[in-house]
Parts: sequence; C-alpha cells; structure tokens
Amino acid sequence: MSKRSDQITLVAGGAGFIGSHLCRALLDRGETVLCLDNLQTARPSNLRLLERDERFEFIEADIVNPLPLDVLERTWSIGRVYNLACAASPPQYQANPEHTMLTNVVGTDHLLRLAERADARFLLTSTSEVYGDPEAHPQHEDYRGWVNCTGPRACYDEGKRAAEAMAFDFARMERTDVRVARIFNTYGPQMHPDDGRVVSNLICQALSGNDITIYGDGTQTRSFCYVSDMVEGLIALMESEQVQAEPINLGNPNEISVNELLTHILALTGSDADVVHRSLPVDDPRRRRPDISRAQRLLGWQPRVSLEEGLAATCAWFAGEIDGGRVPRPT
Ligand code: UDP
Repeated sequence: MSKRSDQITLVAGGAGFIGSHLCRALLDRGETVLCLDNLQTARPSNLRLLERDERFEFIEADIVNPLPLDVLERTWSIGRVYNLACAASPPQYQANPEHTMLTNVVGTDHLLRLAERADARFLLTSTSEVYGDPEAHPQHEDYRGWVNCTGPRACYDEGKRAAEAMAFDFARMERTDVRVARIFNTYGPQMHPDDGRVVSNLICQALSGNDITIYGDGTQTRSFCYVSDMVEGLIALMESEQVQAEPINLGNPNEISVNELLTHILALTGSDADVVHRSLPVDDPRRRRPDISRAQRLLGWQPRVSLEEGLAATCAWFAGEIDGGRVPRPT
C-alpha cells in the first residue's frame, strides 16, 4: 500500500522528543503532517520550529479521549498513522501511572480504529521495556520478556505489551496494516532537560556543574541510539513492503555501562562536577542490548551515528540551551 502524495501522515506524540524529529523528517520527505500531542512531556520550542512549515499542523489532544472532530473529519485523507504518544522516561510515566496505561491501551485503540476507517497503515512505537529485566541477552524479538506486572514500571511495560497485543489482533483480523517498532534507549538534541533520562541528566549536570547522579553502582548497561538513526528506522519500517505483522527491534547494539557513559560525557564536557550515587530504581533492568538482525534483514537498516559523534552533538545542543537560558545554571 503506497502512500499517495496528497495524503496526510498523522503523528500522535509528534511534539515529543522522537516525535518532533520524526515530524521534521517526514516534512523533509514532502509529507503533510498532522501532529496530535497533549503536551505532557513535549518541549514547546520543538513545536515552534515545526510550525514554520505550512505542511505541518498541530492539534492539542490527548489520545486517551475520543479523537477531536478536526481529525475525524479528515479520516479519508489519512494515509499513515504513527503512534508515539506516551511519556517514555521512568519518572515521567510513573508520575501518573493510570494515564500511562490508558494512553497505551485506550489511546492505541482510538488510533487503530482511525487507521482502520481510513484504510491507513499504522505504526506503534513499542519499547525494549516489553523485555523487562531480561534473562536473554541480547534481546531478540522472539524473547518474551521478564516483566514485573505489579511493579512501578508496569504501567508502561504492560501498557505497551497490551498495545502490541491489540495491534497484532487488528492485523490478524485484517482490520489494519500494522507495524510495531520496539524502541531501545534513544538520545539526541531536543530531549527535554527535565526528562529524567540518564543521557539528558548526566549532560545537563556535567555542563551546569551540578552533582552528577548515578543510580546504583553504574555497572548496569544500556545501548544508546542517536535520534536520527531511530527516525530513519521508523520511516523504513512504516514504508517497508517486506514486513509482516511482527515486532522489530530498533536500537543501537553498542552496549555500555552507565559508568562508561559518564566517562564519555565528562571527557566531552571537561566537567569536574561531583558524582553522587543514588539508590537503583525498583525493577531497573541490569542489561539491555538489542538484537537488530531482523531490522537489518527486512529493512536494510542499522544505526550509522557513533556514540562519540552523537554525544558530541547532544552536548553541543544542551550547551546552547544553557547559554540561551533555557536550562538553568547552578544556583
Ligand atoms: N540513571 C542514572 N542516573 C540518572 C538517570 C538514570 O544512573 O540520572 C540510570 C537508570 O537507573 C538506568 C539507566 O541510567 O539504569 C538508564 O536510565 P534511563 O531512565 O535513561 O532509561 P531506562 O531505565 O528507561 O532504560
């Protein structure tokens, strides 16, 4: 199902970190973008940059609620639906766990039904969190995960698992053409400085001279993907004619510990800020690294930006934000 040039691409969560980069890339491809966002975790400046483009339209809406009439009236013009709408940082998604769960379940249902009526292709951004604290390493899509369904991360992990289940049911019943990306840790410019993620926290702390917070002993690992690589993967997945209804890991397999990440950031920023250790959050995964062989085979996709390049670009961007007064200096 190729997309007609006059069709609209709907991006739910398009004002967020990955969402705003995706909207930019879609506009650069000549697509007309309708962005829905409840502005829960978005940076308003992400939107202001996009709104300069006349093919971009923003509607403030929460997908937990019935979709606005403004959207429903355009159902027949919609050719693609990307669902990136959900807070993704642990402190953010745990602040209102009921809303996080409903965003994934009720919100995804609203968007799937819209895609069904529009006969549009639907892409769900799921997460590496569906693997929980994984016993299998690296994580292949066939691994079913080790998730605590009663813990503080469950609103997000289990919400995404339920969203996947629903998306694959829509596919099985031939109601919608569905794609599911399992996104691993992603970083880059335009992250919210208060997001609470390790990359944004450590860079902002290093640049501003505040204490650098390492949770636990810092030996836990993650694999960090630069945002432009992630966006290329998402578009490749949406536009692929090869993919059947199956989840696809998107991430960078370069696995490092939080301590190694800190070493890179200290070297890049020249910071001598103090490092303080805080307790490890409950259910914090010990190790995480994507097996991306399926994405390589089906999409011909793999990350291109090295951690050194990506972190340098991200540090430079945050330094500009601090100089511009958009991230507070230390008191
Ligand atoms: N982390 C840390 N210091 C921080 C924020 C996070 O040491 O200021 C740790 C966190 O406990 C986890 C890792 O960094 O082990 C990645 O955390 P993040 O919130 O970025 O992502 P996620 O846990 O969702 O992978």
